[in-house]
Amino acid sequence: MSGEFDLIRRYFTWPAHNAVLGVGDDAALLQPSPGQQLVVSADMLVAGRHFFADTDPVRLGHKALAVNLSDMAAMGATPRWAMLSLALPEVDEDWLCGFSQGFRALAEQHAVSLIGGDTTCGPLNLSIQIMGEVPPGQALRRDGAQAGDDLWVSGTLGDAAFALQSLLGKVRLTQVEASMLCLRLEQPQPRLALGTALRGLASAALDVSDGLAGDLRHLAHRSGLQAVVEVTTVPVSEVVQVLSPHPLYWQCVLAGGDDYELCFTAAPQHREALSALSCQLGLPLTRIGHMQAGNGVQWLEGGQPVDWELQGFDHFA
Ligand code: ADP
Ligand code: MG
Repeated sequence: MSGEFDLIRRYFTWPAHNAVLGVGDDAALLQPSPGQQLVVSADMLVAGRHFFADTDPVRLGHKALAVNLSDMAAMGATPRWAMLSLALPEVDEDWLCGFSQGFRALAEQHAVSLIGGDTTCGPLNLSIQIMGEVPPGQALRRDGAQAGDDLWVSGTLGDAAFALQSLLGKVRLTQVEASMLCLRLEQPQPRLALGTALRGLASAALDVSDGLAGDLRHLAHRSGLQAVVEVTTVPVSEVVQVLSPHPLYWQCVLAGGDDYELCFTAAPQHREALSALSCQLGLPLTRIGHMQAGNGVQWLEGGQPVDWELQGFDHFA
């Protein structure tokens, strides 16, 4: 059995290449790149709320960091440093080994250093702070959309929500389909290359973490505009497409959380650049609507307004 400090040393200490001082002192020391703005965000994952307590720890380690990296992507930032605070109900060596492996692999893939954190005993809770950098004035904010801008989304939506429905036994999928969707739920890929490439192209952006309906409402509100979405153009995976008559279809596609795609606005003059970028990244970028004067989100189906009450995820609703 290892104690707190032994545990930190064994599972959460590895060379922090881009920090002056990493894990092991009272605080870390960082040297931000000259002239860059610091971008900071935090995300907490609570067992039973954000994930099943028996989730594969390797995937959980990946996901805990991925959701934070997704916020960096949504800001157009380059992530550099992370802090990890853990409440653990017990010292489970297998779990810690898997969790740190999943976390470290993704961190190293994106050259992010783990520079500190806190470890206590308590109900399983994972809290991460992420820090990154962006050139001054180039961050992708939620409040920059202009009337007439196109509205875009990366990848496909609804996969993670249908994975959850399948885990809850509410949708029947083949084993192959279920594992494809579960990969989206449990190992989301933060769209970092897209985020930095959108600097200078996107006028506003956010990541779709709580579902398009809820997240888009935030973007519309912050920009003082209305988002108009043609629902038939919203990109879905092949697995989700065949579920199309399912009663939960639109709820999952338009309001299901956890996809971690980027939703952004851009002036129509950038359409060609964006389709070239899509090819270059091997990531679909789909135009799903536009921004106009007004507020909230207007859904269209085949050009006709539909009055759907779609709510994004809200912990206190
Ligand atoms: P202090 O008592 O000064 O708060 P701690 O004993 O909590 O310090 O932590 C010792 C060192 O280990 C610190 O550098 C802290 O940042 C780091 N640390 C603690 N928990 C973690 C963790 N889960 N991941 C990474 N670093 C951690
Ligand atoms: Mg401490």
